[in-house]
Amino acid sequence: MYLRRQFLENIAGTSDIPQAFCPVKGSGSYLYDIDGRAFLDLISGFCVNNLGHSHPAIVEAIQEQSSKYLHTNVYGEHIQLPQVQLAQFLCSLLPSNLQSIYYLNSGSEVIDAAIKLSRKATGRSEIIVCSNAYHGSTLAAESLRSDFEHSAAYRPLLPNIRFIQANNLKDLEKISKNTAAVITEVVQAEAGVKILNNEFLKGLRDKCTETNSLLVFDEIQTGFGRTGSLFAFQKTAVIPDILLVGKSFGFGLPLSGLVTSKELFDEFKNNPSLGYLSTFGGNPLCCATAFAGLKALLAEKIMDGIPNLVKVVKEELTSPLIKEIRAQGMLIAIDLGNKELVWKLIQELFNKNLLVESFLFDHGSLRLTPPLNIKEDELRQACRIINEQIIKSSEVK
Ligand code: PMP
Repeated sequence: MYLRRQFLENIAGTSDIPQAFCPVKGSGSYLYDIDGRAFLDLISGFCVNNLGHSHPAIVEAIQEQSSKYLHTNVYGEHIQLPQVQLAQFLCSLLPSNLQSIYYLNSGSEVIDAAIKLSRKATGRSEIIVCSNAYHGSTLAAESLRSDFEHSAAYRPLLPNIRFIQANNLKDLEKISKNTAAVITEVVQAEAGVKILNNEFLKGLRDKCTETNSLLVFDEIQTGFGRTGSLFAFQKTAVIPDILLVGKSFGFGLPLSGLVTSKELFDEFKNNPSLGYLSTFGGNPLCCATAFAGLKALLAEKIMDGIPNLVKVVKEELTSPLIKEIRAQGMLIAIDLGNKELVWKLIQELFNKNLLVESFLFDHGSLRLTPPLNIKEDELRQACRIINEQIIKSSEVK
């Protein structure tokens, strides 16, 4: 009780209804709270803990690097071995135009850096984004939100932001020689797992090439195996000019990255130099951890298991109250078309030791984003409980 009071008094929060869950330990897909209750984590810190909690390779990397050194100068002046190893490995898994990485700390920061880089490289200022996308909370990222009732309180926002509807081919006409960049997710997470189709993605690519605008993919939430491939764009025929990564990149530690070509990134080097700086971006501890996490994700062939996990979800979630299940790998929206029911379920499933969530822009769907290495029986059992609870919650008025 005392702890809860202190939490509410001293920890600044931006919601009036915090869940106030108090984890003290994590292992595999489970989080243990201060009273020793085990919760199955079906959220993974919003797509951060793709390898679950306390994965031995990650713990070992943190211990090893922290026993060596933590921080020197990360501005690209010192050769930081963990940065170089991680960059080389990640770039070896990416197309030939994505071979240079600039490290930052959060998703919002790489969005901001992508806007600056696109403006500098093209001499234009217009940024085009899809409606119902969340790209972060800094002022630049906030400016990309289409729900104006939210962003109105923070005006003036960045000028020259234009919105298009995902999968609306006609909207591609809005991309012009005034456009510095189109920034979009390949699978819109907060819109409730909305997939951009191949025709639209190809249209985006062609139009950006035609107008010399930059195509930027925000894979902050979808990256590192979440949708079943290392990055969602790798399942399409479209390659962006800039790839943004974050969230699970650090496998639990804060790390993000802007990946592009050396020539494009060099825009930040000249007239003026030092176009972007960050004290902590590419911190050696975060990079060593990310390197270990990425190696484990591939060595353990985690992504190979994802189609079966998707199958389990679809087999078990059969309630007639479910309108649709949209699953891109382990990024899952259970569409119930009912906001009140979703809120009720989050609470009732919490009481049954399951952590689930909602989406920012799709209030009628329940969100499941479990660790990618969740065990089949853990997921099956969880889905059975969810299925039963959907029926029970809809019965009680
Ligand atoms: N882009 C996407 C697609 C995201 O999901 C998020 C975070 N939910 C961000 C950007 C912002 O990342 P961060 O919270 O690390 O600033």
